[in-house]
Amino acid sequence: MIHRLQRIVQEVNRAPDIDHALVLITGSLIQDLSADACTIFLADKNEPNLLVLKACEGLNPEIIGKVKRKLDQGLVGTIAARAEAMNLLDAPRHKKFMLVPDSGEVEFPIYLGVPIIAHREVLGVISIQRAENAFNEDEEAYLTTLAAQLATSIERAESQGRFSTEQTTHMIKGVAGAPGMAIGQAMVLNRGVNLESVPDKKTTDIEGELSSFREAVRKVCEELTEQGEKMRASLPEEECALFLAYAQMLSGGSLIDDTEKSIAAGNWAPSSWRDTVEQHAYVFTQMEDRYLAERANDIRDLGLRVLRKLMLEQSLYLDFPDQTILVGDEVTATDLADVPLDCLSGIVSAHGSSSSHVAILAHALGVPAVMGVPNLPVKQLDGVKLVVDGYNGSAFINPDNSVLDEYSKYLEEEAAIEQDLLGLKNQSAVTLDQRQVTLLVNSGLMSDHTPSLRSGAEGVGLYRTEIPFQIRDRFPSEEEQYLIYKDVLDTFKGMPVVLRTLDVGGDKPLSYFPIDEANPFLGWRGVRITLDHPEIFVTQVRAMIRANVGVNNLEILLPMISGKAELVESLVLINRVRDEIEEELGETIWLPKIGAMIEVPSAVYQIEDICSMVDFVSIGTNDLTQYLLAVDRNNENVADLYSSLHPAVLKAMCQIVEGAALSTTPVSVCGELAGDPLGVMALLGMGIDSLSMSVGSLLRAKKVIMSFSHAELIEMLQRALSMSDAFMIREMYAGKLDQRGLGGLIRAGK
Ligand code: PEP
Ligand code: MG
Repeated sequence: MIHRLQRIVQEVNRAPDIDHALVLITGSLIQDLSADACTIFLADKNEPNLLVLKACEGLNPEIIGKVKRKLDQGLVGTIAARAEAMNLLDAPRHKKFMLVPDSGEVEFPIYLGVPIIAHREVLGVISIQRAENAFNEDEEAYLTTLAAQLATSIERAESQGRFSTEQTTHMIKGVAGAPGMAIGQAMVLNRGVNLESVPDKKTTDIEGELSSFREAVRKVCEELTEQGEKMRASLPEEECALFLAYAQMLSGGSLIDDTEKSIAAGNWAPSSWRDTVEQHAYVFTQMEDRYLAERANDIRDLGLRVLRKLMLEQSLYLDFPDQTILVGDEVTATDLADVPLDCLSGIVSAHGSSSSHVAILAHALGVPAVMGVPNLPVKQLDGVKLVVDGYNGSAFINPDNSVLDEYSKYLEEEAAIEQDLLGLKNQSAVTLDQRQVTLLVNSGLMSDHTPSLRSGAEGVGLYRTEIPFQIRDRFPSEEEQYLIYKDVLDTFKGMPVVLRTLDVGGDKPLSYFPIDEANPFLGWRGVRITLDHPEIFVTQVRAMIRANVGVNNLEILLPMISGKAELVESLVLINRVRDEIEEELGETIWLPKIGAMIEVPSAVYQIEDICSMVDFVSIGTNDLTQYLLAVDRNNENVADLYSSLHPAVLKAMCQIVEGAALSTTPVSVCGELAGDPLGVMALLGMGIDSLSMSVGSLLRAKKVIMSFSHAELIEMLQRALSMSDAFMIREMYAGKLDQRGLGGLIRAGK
């Protein structure tokens, strides 16, 4: 059963449009469940309470598009209204039954209908009917499972179909990833290189596309022949023959001819190749013979090989528009590195959320990002005009003049706000009642420190050292690390620079140190890895302490501390490194201040113990929120539940502040909440007076600090703590910001 289900879902996902997808479903169901008829009703997008018959098999096809049911009307409307299956032995005798004249359905009184539900919304109803033999429990379970699995596919196919047929403005909604707005042109990068995500593109350079296609095919043919020859020594003859058979398929025939025809019709080579491969693979999947059906995978494998070569050639000629909006299924930090920074205006990603590292990077670069957009029609977006609103997590595809005018006005207003904020650069961050706040920057994502210095930052509150590790293909040597750390310590001479020891694992993988875990955020991460590999830790700390000689502004921060033992072990190693360097250099080496990140709930409850062992603590609100609320920071499906202003997170932070106060251990905050204007208000209310944030947030945070008194922020926090959910708290703080005329700091427009 599982195979049948998988096959239908895969085929539906590959169908070119929603109509083909529905025909596939009705056909497969009639066959798999020996039914006589199958119908699919889908909710009308303009009138969601109306269900329209979109596909039928086994009944009179003339009725498609003509039969409509309101919620609670007829069997279909009742299933949709109750969001519940209906299994009937004699449908015409049910009180809700409504006959569809001339449909032929009276001949099939045995009826089973199930709702199709995605994201809590009823998208439609699938029904099957028979002349005799009741539908048993297994069949009901099968149809229910299929409907649940198909819901997302149907939702996606519908949304993409709507997008391609309507050239009007199409609004998409995701999660606010990084603040700001942009108007620009979409660029779809296909780094992961898979057939499904190749974007559609038209070309006028038919000769150029033909020649890069032929070149890619030639190279793959050559490689396959070579591999076949090489394998001869170690593999049986029939296995080697596969390589040669692949090469043969590329030497002419319909795979090549059909692709060339599509290119000649004006499509670029990758999408022409994708379509040909999919069509050929589809023919194989339909074959009854299991062996032949499996050959579909060979075709796709071959397809991928040629595609990789093709994309490699294409990426050499990438021409980035001046206002590039990077679009992808999963935009990654490395994708960002591919775009010249002066062209990068925005990011739209189908996956991820506001605390994904790519969103944090976008924030640091001052680029608006919309993350986690369900059903983003990625393939159709390349070259399309987009408006990105990173404040509320929405974007407009093909914006019409009214949207463009509105956002052009917002952009002007934002430019005025930015200009105004520049005036605060050299002023200190003090509340109206003269409470001083230290503003620091989060760094490590970029090598250029000039913007941080220009923004008036008073030091670096969090330097994420993992980035230099991630962009290499091996661990950086002590000397390489020394130079990187020295650069930042020298640049901020006289100001504190907090270097965090390596925090990889979770969503920050190292290509050369693969970790395969079912649950990476709860697994081998941060200090857990570096304590298991003291050679990595010691090399890093040596580089840090050596770089600090003569500047003395280093502070070391330990990530993912979950208990005292990790601190004890880390401190032993750090002290040992200090002693070694002292001996090597023959001079006194000061032990830098050592801090612990408080980002794991167990650390909150041990705050007094932890504070007794360190010089400072820094709250990582990104992870603290994820672990306290049990909400994956990267998962768009639960992004609505992720909020650092959740009352539980605020209460945990109050507990940290109170615990640390007992030993007068300084507390700062370096998670994204520290740069969110509403977060600034809440954190100051707790008595926190050191905030570290993306450079782009610094002047906005300063403006907020200078606009309120500490006394009123304490009062607001008391109100927040009495509220029961994050939304109410956000609204309360946003309202206060609006009252001061500062709404433009958190949304588009003044
Ligand atoms: C945090 O968790 O809040 C933090 C600052 O660290 P990172 O986002 O790098 O995990
Ligand atoms: Mg963290």
